[in-house]
Amino acid sequence: MINVPFSPPDINEEDIAAVSAVLRSGWVTTGPQAKMFEQEIAGACGTDRAVVLNSATAALELTLRVLGVGPGDDVITTAYTYTATASVIHHVGARIVLVDIAADGYGIDADAVARAITPSTKAVIGVDVGGVVSDYDRLRSVAESARRSFLPKGRVQEVLGRIAIIADGAHSFGATRRGQTSGAVADFTSFSFHAVKNLITAEGGAVTWRADLGLDNEALYRDFMLLSLHGQSKDAFAKARNGGWEYDVELPGYKANMTDIMAALGRSQLRRYPEMLERRRAVALSYDSGFADLDVAPLPHSTADGESSLHLYMIDLAGRGVEQRNELISLLAERGVSSNVHYKPLPTLTAYRRMGFDIADFPKAHERYSNEVTLPLFSAMADEQVDHVIESFRNAINQIS
Ligand SMILES: *Cc1c(COP(=O)(O)O)cnc(C)c1O
Repeated sequence: MINVPFSPPDINEEDIAAVSAVLRSGWVTTGPQAKMFEQEIAGACGTDRAVVLNSATAALELTLRVLGVGPGDDVITTAYTYTATASVIHHVGARIVLVDIAADGYGIDADAVARAITPSTKAVIGVDVGGVVSDYDRLRSVAESARRSFLPKGRVQEVLGRIAIIADGAHSFGATRRGQTSGAVADFTSFSFHAVKNLITAEGGAVTWRADLGLDNEALYRDFMLLSLHGQSKDAFAKARNGGWEYDVELPGYKANMTDIMAALGRSQLRRYPEMLERRRAVALSYDSGFADLDVAPLPHSTADGESSLHLYMIDLAGRGVEQRNELISLLAERGVSSNVHYKPLPTLTAYRRMGFDIADFPKAHERYSNEVTLPLFSAMADEQVDHVIESFRNAINQIS
């Protein structure tokens, strides 16, 4: 039987050679590879700067910290996401405010965001579910409308002068919206290079921000450097230079830097990322035509607003519901096809129920979740695997209907 894993890493000999070269170089942690990876990410996104870190979760948390978000503040995000989007709000001591998703797609409902804003609101985090960039322009105009009631705390908030619009772009590296690339659409964007994502460094992430926020890019970059490496005034690479031992600690910081081993893998992946995206697109197009006559609704990856990064092939099973969805997943598994559900809305998870969230308050998220299944989609996918998924899905959907 043909086996189809959900999202295995796409590692080739060039990736292995790039990592080996770092292992042989005598410098394995944050150094020249990480700095070059930052420049290449900024180049790919069309931003002035990027910061590479050890995860997207760290990128999101440090973004909130750079913005000065903390106890007494509210941060609004969507119920339809992975826990990391919301847990970072908790980590900085702010209050998690969850809102439902919009009537179409899987993105945050901007009208619900507008209703949830209070003078305590400091940031909104949207999520690019499946690789589709959310409508951050709309969120920014919601934040602009609330400008007069915004109470800035600290230097960065004073310059921004309004609620910050943050993208959880864990899925959307390489995606576009209205001519801009993910990373330059929201005010701040975090990316994940975790092993199941589109471009991988095993564990890893990055943060970018728009150059037109009125903020001092060098000062922001330095804030991220300090927060991500103990608050130390020099990184280990700078200290390792002859005579460069002297340093200061400016604040009790965190430890979230990316190693050169990871960065070398990321740089190697980035060199062939256009081909990887092309393969993902070809697989998604095969699925689209393979399911065109079925009563299901795959997430559109190519629209008038732009191109997604084709991270997840998400299918809406058109009202069939949880039991039939779960039965479908079992039938696929029997044929060697692994699938997933994106996402269990946060209010259905124990941690968020304990915080007082009730899924009954998020009807759209509950409805979308109940009918969602995600099929395997990865750049190293063979044609016969694609054909097997199409055949298996068509069989399974007929059995459950
Ligand atoms: C994977 C993921 C994260 C976390 O990424 P890490 O790099 O593992 O921290 C955050 N948000 C979403 C939507 C994700 O899919």
